[in-house]
Amino acid sequence: MSHEEIHQDLRSAVRELCRSFPDAYWRDLDAKREYPAAFVKALTDAGYLAALIPEEFGGSGLGIAEASVILEEINRSGANAGACHAQMYTMGTLLRHGSDAQKREYLPKIASGELRLQAFGVSEPTTGSDTTQMKTMAVRKGDTYVVSGQQVWISRAEHSDLLLLVCRTTPLEQVKKRGEGLSILLVDLREAVGHGLTIRPIRTMMNHATTELFFDDLKVPASALVGEEGKGFRYLIDGLNAERILIAAECVGDGRWFIERASKYAKDRVVFGRPIGQNQGVQFPIARAHVNIEAADLMRIKAAALFDRGAACGAEANMAKLLAADASWEAANVAVQTYGGFGFAEDYDIERKFRETKLYQVAPISTNLILAYVAEHVLGLPRSY
Ligand SMILES: Cc1cc2nc3c(=O)[nH]c(=O)nc-3n(C[C@H](O)[C@H](O)[C@H](O)COP(=O)(O)OP(=O)(O)OC[C@H]3O[C@@H](n4cnc5c(N)ncnc54)[C@H](O)[C@@H]3O)c2cc1C
Repeated sequence: MSHEEIHQDLRSAVRELCRSFPDAYWRDLDAKREYPAAFVKALTDAGYLAALIPEEFGGSGLGIAEASVILEEINRSGANAGACHAQMYTMGTLLRHGSDAQKREYLPKIASGELRLQAFGVSEPTTGSDTTQMKTMAVRKGDTYVVSGQQVWISRAEHSDLLLLVCRTTPLEQVKKRGEGLSILLVDLREAVGHGLTIRPIRTMMNHATTELFFDDLKVPASALVGEEGKGFRYLIDGLNAERILIAAECVGDGRWFIERASKYAKDRVVFGRPIGQNQGVQFPIARAHVNIEAADLMRIKAAALFDRGAACGAEANMAKLLAADASWEAANVAVQTYGGFGFAEDYDIERKFRETKLYQVAPISTNLILAYVAEHVLGLPRSY
């Protein structure tokens, strides 16, 4: 089977699964700010969240191109892959840097759905995008780490069994280079909550199950260390390209959903005796948003192809994320404008997706930080921060 055929089959199968979770399902959860547990279970049972886990550990051993097709189709259907995407990219840290024992212990259970690895902890309230300055500290005492500190925006922590925690193991004052002294711990949330870890939900403008974490002398076995102590920042960087490509694909999915809805509405809605879509003032913005989504998709496809053959793809992965997030946000604005007043009505779902796709201007990395990366690392301009 060619790559094209594999992707086509995947698209049809994911679309079929998503049909059981229509707009009303997402609208209802959004109103209640509830986690889409049934949807995530259906995806897990069908094996989609284990797409990147190698076959020897019970996954399907697919590439990032295929994984990105899965997430794109989820968002393309009007759903929100933000409820489950982290399982795909956080698992990569364990796969690349975990010990054989850790991989044998966790990966098959993650693949089968027995364990959920949906939470990834980096962001702190007072550190912001400057990750190397992070303060959450893990101090080694015998065969345990004692963790103290605070993190914010840690999504899905209440719906995950494991947390991939980035924390400091050497105080900042003692490191020579700013990327040193960070480590990664695989924290078992089932044991941690109530024993040094408190999770406090944060209500946001969209339904995202995000939380604040308070570490108060949480004891984590030293065997939870992933890879070597002090190398956590490098491991983090290693996982970012996958994350950027997958999020770009979600944005492409969002964009296509907005354009399809806007086009249909523009054909059906008759005002002044003709469909509003007959007016160039209405059709051109939709056409332009389509052009931009298709262009962003090309960069996403290029980045995924480079990633899957093991080539450097930092520039392409970042550019794909920026282009796709901007294009989906443009498409979201165009859809609201096309729907007029109905764009604001919950029953039409446009305003829900509008709120959801806005996130990708800021997380997991903001557009400015991508531009700073391109300026410095691709164009050789002076470092700005
Ligand atoms: C809903 C949601 C879910 C999230 N989920 C997770 C998660 O699961 N795990 C996790 O670890 N984090 C998560 N995050 C955090 C997210 O990654 C951060 O919000 C993001 O990286 C930006 O960091 P900040 O919010 O601290 O913004 P800041 O770093 O404070 O930046 C604020 C603004 O200033 C700009 N800015 C900052 N510095 C510069 C500069 N040098 N040059 C130009 N512009 C600059 C930024 O672009 C941004 O627009 C989530 C965030 C949200 C909102």
